[in-house]
Amino acid sequence: MNETLMQYFEWYLPQDNSLWKQVSKDAQHLENLGITAIWLPPAYKGQAGQADVGYGVYDHYDLGEFLAKGSVETKYGSKDEYLKCVQDLQQHGIRVLGDIVLNHMMGSEEAENIQAVKIDENDRNKNEGDYYGVRVWTHYTFPQREGKYSDFSWNWKDFTGTDYDQNNDQSHILKFEGKEWSPNVSKERGNFDYIMGDDIDFSVPEVVDELYHWGIWYTEISGVDGFRLDAVKSIDARFFSGWLKKMKEYGHHPDFAVGEFWSGDPQILLQYLKDSGHCMKLFDVALHYRLQQYSNHPENADLREVFKGSLVELEPEYACVFSDNHDTQPGQALYSWVEDWFKPISYALLLLRDCRYPCVFYGDLYGINHDNIAPVPNLDKMIWIRKNLLSGAVIDFNDDDKQKTCWMAPGDHPVIVIASIGDWKSATVQDLSLAGHVFTDINYPEHEIWVDENGRADFTCPERNVSVYILKEDYQALSSSLY
Ligand code: CA
Repeated sequence: MNETLMQYFEWYLPQDNSLWKQVSKDAQHLENLGITAIWLPPAYKGQAGQADVGYGVYDHYDLGEFLAKGSVETKYGSKDEYLKCVQDLQQHGIRVLGDIVLNHMMGSEEAENIQAVKIDENDRNKNEGDYYGVRVWTHYTFPQREGKYSDFSWNWKDFTGTDYDQNNDQSHILKFEGKEWSPNVSKERGNFDYIMGDDIDFSVPEVVDELYHWGIWYTEISGVDGFRLDAVKSIDARFFSGWLKKMKEYGHHPDFAVGEFWSGDPQILLQYLKDSGHCMKLFDVALHYRLQQYSNHPENADLREVFKGSLVELEPEYACVFSDNHDTQPGQALYSWVEDWFKPISYALLLLRDCRYPCVFYGDLYGINHDNIAPVPNLDKMIWIRKNLLSGAVIDFNDDDKQKTCWMAPGDHPVIVIASIGDWKSATVQDLSLAGHVFTDINYPEHEIWVDENGRADFTCPERNVSVYILKEDYQALSSSLY
């Protein structure tokens, strides 16, 4: 089966607690499209309450159940609505990936007076000056939850550092007395253990026990089929292989995980796969940056080599390819948006070749109202074609021009794709098995191409675009299934 993942959120969704209900309503449509797995945003209460996208984790056990941080519901709805939307997706044959944010927590109830040292932002192995008295927000008691599901309360000893000292009203990375950053994290800026908030210390056995306890609780109660793991480059690389193995014993026995290791260097991604025992796939950040670069500077690009050296080329079974996400969209921390004109080309490359795990972004399928970004044209059709027509390997042809790429997915339902990052292009197909067939261009269904009795036909593509040709009868099936 051809897997197609979808990230079902973007950063600027309205703060109206409606996403889980929307997912339930959309489940039938997503099944028709051919989406096989949905990555839902973090379902637990963040420090900013309903304004929190989900990454400012306050209480992992509060899935929209307790009146904490200003509301019962999270940005996306209540616990019951969350559990229902997971079930609704599963009833439509769609697997659900929970978003797991274990690197940090934020928004504790009480501050603690301890000794800490300032850390050089650009070389986190370097202390700046001596240890001194600070007041840090590290004591979590979850008074509204009153010990339900877990009586674990967190204090500064469960964290390695933070970035705010109440005494001096100062923001700076601080490392706590007697603590060291984990050596098994990204070497970016010397050591990338710290990102934000109160950084969870994975060397404390009670902390690790609690994260297992929580994981089992969450896996059982949610019934998710897999995980998207946040910020793995800042978490001890040895943690997840054991944790994921344990989770597999519970609930729906989740057996899929994809990690976010934000690095455009494929060698670093390969190294992490090794360090973590290949227990998860990784998002192909290297390919994302390549797509962005091509979209900004097509004059320097060679479309035939777009995958060269990326994670999906080096470790195809462990690469989750994507065009954009909630961090790379306009206005966000890792802004690196693939330009709109290039989006249809990027999705043809991700969905209609042989990538094993492509992930479609909500903002690309449905648009981003906040920034007046329209849905990517015909993305829905490409998802459907992947699911229903693609059957195996693809054959490249006409590779004589770096501004175009042409391939055919052969089989009972052949698909022919021509993409151009330059001007109008054409390519000749010569394949006896296609003799007498009539193809339709999904962009312009009235545009038909007849293959002659020798199996020969010329296919075309407009400038800076992609043309996807499928058999006329397959296009009729597509239309009746989607519209
Ligand atoms: Ca960390």
